[in-house]
Amino acid sequence: MARTRPPGSRRLDSFITSPPKGKGKEEKERREREPSPSLEVKTTDGDVYYSSLAEAFERLERISSRKAKIALIAQFLRQCPEDALDTVAVFLANQVFPGWDSRELGIGTKLMQKTIAQATGASESEVTELFKQLGDLGSVAEELLRRKKTSTLFSSQPLTVQEVRETFEKVAEVEGEGAVKRKMRLLMGLLARARPKEARYLVRQVLEELRTGVRENTVEEAISQAFGVSKKLVERAHMLSNDIGLVAKVAATEGEEGLKQIDLKPMRPIKPMLAQAARNVKEALAEVGGKGAVEIKLDGARVQVHSDGEEVRVYTRRIEDVTHALPDLVEAVKECVDADEFILEGEAVAIDPETGKPRPFQELLHRIKRKYDIEEVRREIPVELYLFDCLYVDGESLVDAPFEERRRRLEEIVNEQEGKVMLVDQLITDDPKEAAEMFHEALEMGHEGVMVKDLSADYTPGVRGKKMLKVKPVLETLDCVVVGGIWGKGKRKGLIGSYLLAVWDENKEKLLEVGKVGTGMDDETLERLTKLFVEEKDLVVEESGREVRFKPEIVFEVEFEDIQKSPKYSSGFALRFPRLVRVREDLGPEDADTIKKVRRIYEEILKKH
Ligand code: AMP
Repeated sequence: MARTRPPGSRRLDSFITSPPKGKGKEEKERREREPSPSLEVKTTDGDVYYSSLAEAFERLERISSRKAKIALIAQFLRQCPEDALDTVAVFLANQVFPGWDSRELGIGTKLMQKTIAQATGASESEVTELFKQLGDLGSVAEELLRRKKTSTLFSSQPLTVQEVRETFEKVAEVEGEGAVKRKMRLLMGLLARARPKEARYLVRQVLEELRTGVRENTVEEAISQAFGVSKKLVERAHMLSNDIGLVAKVAATEGEEGLKQIDLKPMRPIKPMLAQAARNVKEALAEVGGKGAVEIKLDGARVQVHSDGEEVRVYTRRIEDVTHALPDLVEAVKECVDADEFILEGEAVAIDPETGKPRPFQELLHRIKRKYDIEEVRREIPVELYLFDCLYVDGESLVDAPFEERRRRLEEIVNEQEGKVMLVDQLITDDPKEAAEMFHEALEMGHEGVMVKDLSADYTPGVRGKKMLKVKPVLETLDCVVVGGIWGKGKRKGLIGSYLLAVWDENKEKLLEVGKVGTGMDDETLERLTKLFVEEKDLVVEESGREVRFKPEIVFEVEFEDIQKSPKYSSGFALRFPRLVRVREDLGPEDADTIKKVRRIYEEILKKH
């Protein structure tokens, strides 16, 4: 995925891929026409040398054609020993762990800079300076290792892909006192054994920014090509397992028959099915075939609840394991759900114990993200669960069953208990008036709106489609990725006073700026946000004067009064009077809106004038 990058900073790939001045285009075309020399994957005892993977990463970075990237990955996978296939496929897809695995490395840019300094013997200011020049920490590590004269070549065993994965696992699992130091030490161990080019990609892997332009579906296609299996089957197996490594391995060893056997499994969370927006309930009902289920849209956090018969675990929509933070919810599920194995979906809502009313979303997040003193917040902010879907019950996968049937199964296995576990209210209707009444009632009760669902639709993980539509009041909001900020002056000195917003281009490859938001935030929020961006998440990638560029990671939901055409921002549009509604901590940058939505709203506004 192409990312925004600090202005003035140069990416290493610009050094590598830029053809000689003057004959740029022809040179590039010539290079793409020429078959690249075949890639030899060096293996050892069921494993692959990391140098081969680094070589593949470098070639992927150089070629721009998607077809060529797919062919290269297929070539790599075909030569890969079976035992290493899963790790290799995961790494090639720019993941550190398979999609279902909620573990994270927890290494930000700052910590990485420190680690590189220590591993290479450079000073931290040297690292910062080089980072400014090259714009990428992977290239910094590579360059510093090249300058370091002591040769790693003779002093250590070459790294293998599985060793790298094992170290990543250790890094993710370190916790408690001194965790940061121990994580650094583990990474330094890897860098100490890495050749310069390997270091470039190790660092980028840790930061999950490979810059190879390879997406999950590129690897899916490569698997299909490498092992001669149907692309559709590969996609489906990946959707249901959320594990590209497993899919690669099964495709190689068991072919299509094996892929067909891959299904949902408790404790292996999947990407949730996403809702499309509809302008009103009438339109939404028409989209689902005239008759549908209208449900209240609760303002909480979407959770996937898994049980394997022994344990219950709770995941967010971004596959963070939040079981530990929600013991009350886990107990309630154990009490109210009458099945051994299951995967259920619902909305967790924080309730005010005094009024019984839902509390603001931020408070729920505070509860969900909590790591310590759980018992205390548990009393302060009790959580209720409203279930709305059922994907798996006692050995039976229900993804292909129509929604109507899934809801029926949910009703069968859940014994509702007020204040603990309930089913979302549902009205089945083909009457737009009745649906509109429910919409207005929902708003009056303080909910966000309604969801309208297709009764006959199956469940498609990770897909945003018309099987489920959301209807909210007219003024739509935009989910924007924050790509920069400006340090405040006067009263706002020491705080980021406004944030630069961006949305994706049509292909979700490039971020386009649409405006700056500096209102809708009181002093406390400003302080909290500055801390979040600068310290906790460590997202600053470039600073010049008062301007800062951030690694695109945080998503702001903003409302605004108007959209205008403007040359001021790279999207060609500017949001007028944007206000921060909330930080969408439940969304990743890839979930933010695209320019298509901005254009649509712009055109709708034009029509109204
Ligand atoms: P949005 O996050 O605005 O795209 O809206 C979709 C989200 O609404 C889902 O991810 C759920 O978290 C939430 N939601 C609330 N109530 C329901 C419901 N009854 N059915 C499905 N999703 C719901």
